[in-house]
Amino acid sequence: MASALSDKLSRLVKEMRGQARITDANVQDMLREVRMALLEADVALPVVRDFVARVKDKALGQEVIGSLNPGQALVGIVHRELVTTMGEGISDINLATQPPAIILMAGLQGAGKTTTTAKLAKHLIEKRKKKVLTVSGDVYRPAAIEQLKTVTKQAGAEWFPSSPDQKPLDIANAAVDYARKQYFDVLLVDTAGRLAIDEAMMKEIRELHAALKPVETLFVVDAMQGQDAVNTAKAFKDALPLTGIVLTKLDGDSRGGAALSVRQITGAPIKFAGVSEKIDGLEVFDAERHAGRILGMGDIVALVEQVTANVDVAAAQKLAAKVKSGEGFDLNDFLDQIRQMKQMGGLSALMDKMPSQVQAKAGAVDMDKAEKDIRRKEGIICSMTLQERRKPEIIKATRKRRIAAGAGVQVQEVNRLLNEFEQMQGMMKKMKGGGLMKLMKRMGG
Ligand code: GDP
Ligand code: MG
Repeated sequence: MASALSDKLSRLVKEMRGQARITDANVQDMLREVRMALLEADVALPVVRDFVARVKDKALGQEVIGSLNPGQALVGIVHRELVTTMGEGISDINLATQPPAIILMAGLQGAGKTTTTAKLAKHLIEKRKKKVLTVSGDVYRPAAIEQLKTVTKQAGAEWFPSSPDQKPLDIANAAVDYARKQYFDVLLVDTAGRLAIDEAMMKEIRELHAALKPVETLFVVDAMQGQDAVNTAKAFKDALPLTGIVLTKLDGDSRGGAALSVRQITGAPIKFAGVSEKIDGLEVFDAERHAGRILGMGDIVALVEQVTANVDVAAAQKLAAKVKSGEGFDLNDFLDQIRQMKQMGGLSALMDKMPSQVQAKAGAVDMDKAEKDIRRKEGIICSMTLQERRKPEIIKATRKRRIAAGAGVQVQEVNRLLNEFEQMQGMMKKMKGGGLMKLMKRMGG
């Protein structure tokens, strides 16, 4: 998913090494690339302009922490601003009302309303233990009513019958009545969409909204819609008080810039992401991960985030200084590195943030196994004396047997760790400090 553009961004990041703070001069090129990356991800132009201006304000004059260079720091700021704009934290469906809680689905035809209705039904049944009813107000397409019936069954929810000769408003009222009498917790109301914004459609859904007074009015939008998503979002926002967004088809190859545009235009939180055609293809929207996708440089962004969030900057600097001064990188430092890996949420969490092509390459690696391996290494080093950790060369056969027994592993495993440590030590010498990122990347696989 990374493009030539983000390669250029990565290169600019590297070029900024050695500069201590973000200035007007060094930030211009970076901001231009950020702007291009956002446009390429199909974020709408006015949204891009606002966004870049906010980032510039936040970035100028900012000190650069730890082992980051200004380029990396700026990417960190861009990433954080993306996350904030798209909404931090998890916002599930709001059900805080007298049951049945009514959820109205709005959006263009083909956006994924019917599919998402069933996905949400399943989510509410499984995760929130609710009794769920669905109903279709799409009287223009008999097949759409049947479609909802089928997917509702797959979701394990109940479907309320409707037919093309009824009025959407009458269908909805009958469904509410039934839901009340049968003590349903939730009623999901699927609606008709048109291929383009259309006054009749807007009028119909406004009337439905007025009659149903839904606790959630969800705008369902196709992530592949790109720039057009802005106009659609505007029209629906003007017609309805939207309470949330579902971004569908994120399993496609769009960079998902629509998320930023739609969020900015509607002000409504992005609650869920559709990630497959299947009934279980719904995920709680993760702004953090999505920010990396939009920039198309998940690795740098995620690592910058992880570094600033979790790494003990002082410890990292101490380590860098140590390596620079030629002092040995010992097993205690190695242990520190291993522990920092763990602190960052482990390998699989880190891998999640990598761009897809990196993930594909790592596909063959079993993450669970790799994490267990890290824990075993930690165990082995912990079974060594302080002296052994400082001077690994004194670890001969007898000591190896003692360490292996202490850690509950085979001697070969101790040997393997010592070999790996030597390699790492060699690499540290070559890097001469400042290479914490590289080191962590290396350790991440
Ligand atoms: P509606 O017209 O808004 O009700 O849209 P539908 O729910 O009928 O979906 C339109 C098409 O998009 C169908 O072929 C769905 O299977 C497909 N679809 C919906 N959501 C997703 C998704 O998250 N990922 C993928 N790949 N396809 C989806
Ligand atoms: Mg439909």
